[in-house]
Amino acid sequence: MDENNKENQNRTTPVRVRMPPSPTGFMHVGTLRMALFNYIFAKQKGGKIVLRLEDTDRQRSKKEYADDILDGLRWLGLNWDEGPFYQTQRAEIYKQYLEKLVDRGKAYHCFCSSEELEAHRQYQMSRGEAPIYSGKCAAISPEEARELISCGRKSVIRFRAESKKIKFNDLVRGEIEFDGSLIGDFVIAKDFENALYNFTVVVDDFEMGITHVIRGEDHISNTPKQILIQEALGLPRPEYAHLPIIMGADRSKLSKRHGAVGVTEYRRQGYLPEALINFTAFLGWNPGTEKEIYLMPELIRDFSFDKVQKGGAVFNSARLDYLNSCYIKNCAPGDLAKLCLPYFVSAGYLSEEKSGGQTVYKNPRTGEGVELEFIEKIVSYQQSRLKKLSEIAEASGYFFLSELSYEKELLKWKDASFAETKLALDKIKNIFANIEAGDWKRQNLEEAVLPQIAGFNLSVGKPEKDRGYLLWPLRVALCGQKMSIGPFEMADVLGKEKTAKRIDAAVEMLNGSICAPNLFNR
Ligand code: GLU
Repeated sequence: MDENNKENQNRTTPVRVRMPPSPTGFMHVGTLRMALFNYIFAKQKGGKIVLRLEDTDRQRSKKEYADDILDGLRWLGLNWDEGPFYQTQRAEIYKQYLEKLVDRGKAYHCFCSSEELEAHRQYQMSRGEAPIYSGKCAAISPEEARELISCGRKSVIRFRAESKKIKFNDLVRGEIEFDGSLIGDFVIAKDFENALYNFTVVVDDFEMGITHVIRGEDHISNTPKQILIQEALGLPRPEYAHLPIIMGADRSKLSKRHGAVGVTEYRRQGYLPEALINFTAFLGWNPGTEKEIYLMPELIRDFSFDKVQKGGAVFNSARLDYLNSCYIKNCAPGDLAKLCLPYFVSAGYLSEEKSGGQTVYKNPRTGEGVELEFIEKIVSYQQSRLKKLSEIAEASGYFFLSELSYEKELLKWKDASFAETKLALDKIKNIFANIEAGDWKRQNLEEAVLPQIAGFNLSVGKPEKDRGYLLWPLRVALCGQKMSIGPFEMADVLGKEKTAKRIDAAVEMLNGSICAPNLFNR
């Protein structure tokens, strides 16, 4: 197709998709995937996205959940063009369509009690038949129904479903056929004011000019019902694409057990939106190449429904961690530092204050102001190790302490004695003392210390190449623990003065363990 034709086609059939989450829970991966695939497809086609909150289930829908979903979508950058529309505010519109159907005899009031319906259902099941409505109230005329209602009889509105074959084309699965005789007359509204899901969706999709319905496989069985309603109302049929079910590695229904949590929780734990999007795009879509990092523009460029699988999509949280670590590694340290600030604050390593319209950070232990460059230096050394941002505070807390507390035993490397450990620290202290504050950079520190290792080891009778005798005590002196970034990296972050203070504190501890006559006592 040449460019002109392509443009013409776009003009004549503008793509319009919908994101229709039900606010009956916090935003989860299924909602995210539905929104993402709609977003990608709409952007690829230059189309528009309508956001619609399907809150007709008043008991289960909550504002808190709706807000969570809207926040999640915004955070992920999955922006919409129109809406949000709330179905509970559209009752008048549904009512008009419901009345039309009832007037045309395509829907009727049903007065069966739930006990009656249940008994019939049991009876059908016992005979191995599909449980469908008996049709008992199908012959009640609208006038009769009005009378019964005015006498206080309870009713619902049922759609008169034709028992014919219903076929539709699915962009993922090809042709799908349903046997309408297995559907039976189904409930589309509690009353004229309270329409239910299958009905509201059809009305809204038409009213909102939706051309493509992209949603989870769990909605396939609703599609024939929705098609029957469309036909009864004389409405056009949108294109359908049903995305595969998302499941855990054990092929069971996805749950927390598989590491799947809500989008807000992922955000809280420090997953980057780009990583979550990249991960979710692969829940059902596979470009069939080795390429695994996909930013949004590439997803929009490469997406197609024929690369969406029919079989279930397996959720693998280790892959999400891996992708997140890739995105963290690629972050500019300045940006990453800003993203990490809240984690230091919530861990109590930083306090936040507003001053002249600006946010300033302090170390609450020392009262010192903390510049963003300091945080930037920390994160630049940590970023290759992080799987998620929330790990930053625990991994770097020692930078913010005014005093470290650790067992002096920890300072010793392998068979080194306290005296040898002290010698190592003294040695480093002297080397560091000769480095100007202006030259205090990781590389300079390393270049000053590393060539001295062999000589030091030989002087205390240790294997020439074992870096631990000199560097381990330095590591522990600077952070008070076993796990940390490299000792020169830590010294770089701490600066000359604090590094010297921490080494002095370690030496001080060791002095207490060394008695003069037995200098080399272990
Ligand atoms: N509100 C439905 C849900 O959250 C989606 C309905 C649809 O896509 O038709 O599952």
